[in-house]
Amino acid sequence: MATKTLEARFEHLSVNDENEHHGTTKGHIKAKGSLSTAVSLIGLGAANPSAASSTRNQLLKIALQNTTDSKANAGSPSNKEQQGRSEESSTVLYDQPAPKKLHLGMFEIGKALGKGKFGRVYLAKERSTGFICALKVLHKSELQQGGVQKQVRREIEIQSNLRHPNVLRLYGHFHDSKRIFLILEFAGKGELYKHLRKEHRFPEWKSAQYIAQMAAALKYLHKKHVIHRDIKPENILVGIHGEIKISDFGWSVHAPNNRRQTMCGTLDYLPPEMLVRGSQENYYSDKVDLWSLGVLTYEFLVGEAPFEDTPVMTQRRITRADMTIPSFVSPEARDFIKRLLVLDPEKRMTIDEAQQHPWILKHCVKTEKTTQRSSGQK
Ligand code: ATP
Ligand code: MG
Repeated sequence: MATKTLEARFEHLSVNDENEHHGTTKGHIKAKGSLSTAVSLIGLGAANPSAASSTRNQLLKIALQNTTDSKANAGSPSNKEQQGRSEESSTVLYDQPAPKKLHLGMFEIGKALGKGKFGRVYLAKERSTGFICALKVLHKSELQQGGVQKQVRREIEIQSNLRHPNVLRLYGHFHDSKRIFLILEFAGKGELYKHLRKEHRFPEWKSAQYIAQMAAALKYLHKKHVIHRDIKPENILVGIHGEIKISDFGWSVHAPNNRRQTMCGTLDYLPPEMLVRGSQENYYSDKVDLWSLGVLTYEFLVGEAPFEDTPVMTQRRITRADMTIPSFVSPEARDFIKRLLVLDPEKRMTIDEAQQHPWILKHCVKTEKTTQRSSGQK
């Protein structure tokens, strides 16, 4: 991406730093380092990977300090009390050495990247390092009204601990009295959903390469006992090199889990075992993500989800795995989909089998070899 274009996106928007207005920045350690001038914006892109990784490490250090800090404060009693104190939170330093607190003033805010149900996302640049990221701003009052505070907390807890090239990084978070800010990895090519709608459907090679990346991400998540449960094109972002990044961990859980869940959003990706009455409460296994991977493969190749219909009909069709694969889909891809969209979760193809499936191998030979070589043949 041309530096100019990116720079042009940093016209100021109105995300004001409460802390600055209240003059409480005293407690913040403002890094005035020479880094800000030494690291050019372009150095953060592919052109200079070493500079990019060193600035990333800088931000990471800050983020880690913040995590430690928020853990130290985790015992702070009630939400109400926390809200009341948040403006002064940066000066509460009694029981630990001064940590580098994250705060809005550290970021230069650029163009709006998008708007979700509960907040807006902006392109942002960390001032001291020039590190480019996406800043998601969530309003506490809206989260409360929507009853999703728990969901957001889970999203933060889970996503902060994940590190995989196909999983969107959450570098850190902070809050003021009204808002929560998430510092996210910037996905330069935006939503996969938009690309899919624009191209209507993806060619087989592209679908297979995307699905292989999804499988790698899911394998990683499942190994960490994280089930995503909301895999769909809307929750997948695309990085600057065309690589995909799973995001939106709002519905994800650490398995095993007994949490109740109200069904909301689209039914298209819901696996049959989650539709059976009474099963939502305690039945979760990582097999649900494999069903969704099957639905995703279908939608990539066909341009629409396999059970798209009226809500009642979609549910009925899911419980019967009632779908038709158009004839333009290759036999290998057809087999891949059919092995994932299997009603009995135990009989569904596993992640390992998916990664070794002929359809994947046919289109991803190069990637496989490169990955194996660079990871020292795991
Ligand atoms: P929901 O509230 O249903 O999860 P959403 O996922 O669309 O909605 P956000 O995650 O807040 O909401 O994101 C809003 C939009 O901002 C996204 O659809 C995407 O276009 C853009 N966006 C979000 N995060 C990033 C990011 N890290 N990099 C680039 N663009 C992003
Ligand atoms: Mg989303």
